[in-house]
Parts: sequence; structure tokens; C-alpha cells
Amino acid sequence: MPDAPEGRKHEVLQLFKDWHHPIPALIESTEQSTIMKNDARDRQPLERWGQGRVTLLGDAAHPITPNVGQGACMAIEDAACLVKSVLAAPSMAAGFGAYEAMRRRRTASVGRQSRQIGAIGQWQNRWMVSGRNFVTRLVLSRTAEMRLNAVYAYEA
Ligand SMILES: Cc1cc2nc3c(=O)[nH]c(=O)nc-3n(C[C@H](O)[C@H](O)[C@H](O)COP(=O)(O)OP(=O)(O)OC[C@H]3O[C@@H](n4cnc5c(N)ncnc54)[C@H](O)[C@@H]3O)c2cc1C
Repeated sequence: MPDAPEGRKHEVLQLFKDWHHPIPALIESTEQSTIMKNDARDRQPLERWGQGRVTLLGDAAHPITPNVGQGACMAIEDAACLVKSVLAAPSMAAGFGAYEAMRRRRTASVGRQSRQIGAIGQWQNRWMVSGRNFVTRLVLSRTAEMRLNAVYAYEA
């Protein structure tokens, strides 16, 4: 996303102007050129993460937007499943295949949830934002909690 015409520092100050001390003061005292800005990106799930004795793990296999705070958790689960699969398999290649089969669906599902939540969180229309906030407060917080509990209940 391009910077606002007023500059990156002004944009950050606007976003955090109502935060508690010393957040706005810290931003104020920061040199604009040192403020780093990276877009958060994911991608459609891959069909395959590797071949033979090569496979991927973590963000390299399945980058996930940060909206559900699960990217690193998925990488740690991958590692646990990778060890389990390799130890139980007759060869490294078979273990990697079993690991991918075990992990693809879950990581794709968490990635999808994160993207959906991110899309809703970034609505700009004033009425849609009010409606979203109202409904979230009244009805959806329990539903969201249940969905996240399903994520947390996973046994690697
Ligand atoms: C704003 C934000 C908030 C987040 N919040 C959460 C959260 O609350 N909870 C959560 O679980 N996850 C969170 N994540 C996601 C999490 O940071 C990533 O999913 C996680 O770091 C992925 O780990 P990784 O080991 O797969 O990849 P990385 O952490 O990217 O590690 C890859 C490493 O490989 C190195 N590397 C790259 N190329 C080479 C090379 N050619 N040779 C040698 N080294 C190389 C890189 O320098 C890097 O150190 C967040 C991400 C963002 C951006």
C-alpha cells in the first residue's frame, strides 16, 4: 500500500494519537526514514510443499496473514508433525509425504480464517464498520471464540 501524501510518520501518528504515553511521543521522536513499512501478504495454499527428500515448513510452506496470530504457531506444529512423521516412516521421503498430508488441510483452513477476519477488519465504509462492530459485540464474539477454540484444540 502506498504511503499517505503527508508521509509515513504522520500516518502512524494519526493511527496512534489516542494511545497512552509514551507511544505518541516515541513516534514523534522517530526519524521518518527509519519507519519500516511492509504489507502483510499470504498466498493460495500450494498443492505440494516439496518433493522426495525436500520439503518446506512454516511461512515458506504456508504464509498466513497475522489476523489470528497463528503463523508461528503453525510453524511449531509443522515441526512437531514433521518429527513424528519422519520417525514413523520407512524413509525420509515417505515421512515428508506423510507430514505434508497431515498439515496441508489445517494450515489452509487457518490461513483462510485469517484472511476472512482481515478482510472484515479492514472495511472502510462507515456504516459497514458500525454494523460490524455492533454485530461483533452482540452476537459474534462467542462464535469467534468458538472458532478460535477449535484452532487451539488441535492435537499435533
Ligand atoms: C505483524 C505480525 C504479527 C504476527 N503475530 C503473530 C502471532 O501473534 N502469533 C503467531 O504465531 N505468529 C505471528 N506472526 C507470524 C510469524 O511471525 C511467522 O509465521 C513466523 O515467524 C514464521 O516462522 P518461519 O520460521 O516459518 O519463518 P521466518 O520467521 O520468516 O524465518 C525464516 C528465517 O530464514 C531466514 N532466511 C531467509 N532466506 C535465507 C537464506 N537464503 N539463507 C539463510 N537464512 C535465510 C530469514 O532471515 C528468517 O530469519 C506474525 C507476523 C507478523 C508479520
